[in-house]
Amino acid sequence: MSQVTSQPSEASKAEQFLPNNLSLPLYVPLNRDFQRDFEKIFRANANDLTTPAVNQLRSATKNYINYILENDSLGFDESTLNNFALAYKKILESRCNLKKFESIGADSRIMDYLKTSQPLTLETLDMYHSMDKPNYEEILSESQSFTSTTEVQNHLKLDEFYQFLRGIIFVLKHPEQPVPDELADDEDLGISGGTISLKDPLTLNLFVNPVIATCGHTFESSSIRQQIQEHPSGVMECPTSGCDNRLSMSNLKSDTLMKIRIRCASKLQQTNDDLDIVH
Ligand SMILES: [Zn+2]
Repeated sequence: MSQVTSQPSEASKAEQFLPNNLSLPLYVPLNRDFQRDFEKIFRANANDLTTPAVNQLRSATKNYINYILENDSLGFDESTLNNFALAYKKILESRCNLKKFESIGADSRIMDYLKTSQPLTLETLDMYHSMDKPNYEEILSESQSFTSTTEVQNHLKLDEFYQFLRGIIFVLKHPEQPVPDELADDEDLGISGGTISLKDPLTLNLFVNPVIATCGHTFESSSIRQQIQEHPSGVMECPTSGCDNRLSMSNLKSDTLMKIRIRCASKLQQTNDDLDIVH
């Protein structure tokens, strides 16, 4: 063992007391710092960047959709919508992963480890040496509460916004078909036959400003509002046969997907007309 002679004598003295095979575990002597970092990274929502990211992405997507709808000459771009959907999926994936990290914070091996808060001294050095640092990867892999893709898929199935986006991407090419129920990757399997009418059932005119009722039936805003107004109570039964839902002004909302269907149908029609001219 070579003495470092250029060091101040205090330091040289200290060195003589430390074992020369000293290899401190990475977490020493930062146990408390580590605990603080752990709390910051794994716990609570202190570091949750996914919520603002979700909100931002939703509002960007809505702005895009509104912009296209407000400009009659424009059509929807499939790759743009796919990018929005993909980004949204990635963010939800991150959120699931964060939750998984948070959940291992409750693991007793980690709890016990974090409770150790003795200051590092020569006396406690052995204790630190013998302490088992929790193996996060091992604990994570044992954690059965999430299985990445299925977990994310389940979130997406229940996510209204994602399903809306998925619906739009589907109607780009199939403006008059019902959006297949879940499922996903094989769109063709889900097509149940039948078509979606792009016409107001009351006037039989193409929709211009469609509104959807809570029962899922769509009407032209002006025609259904006129009918509701004719009822002194302000409430009427849904005019769709077999539907006994009660309609009032307040439970009608703009049917964005129908507006998109109409725009897409007209763009497809335009493309077909253009092709006819070419031939
Ligand atoms: Zn109805």
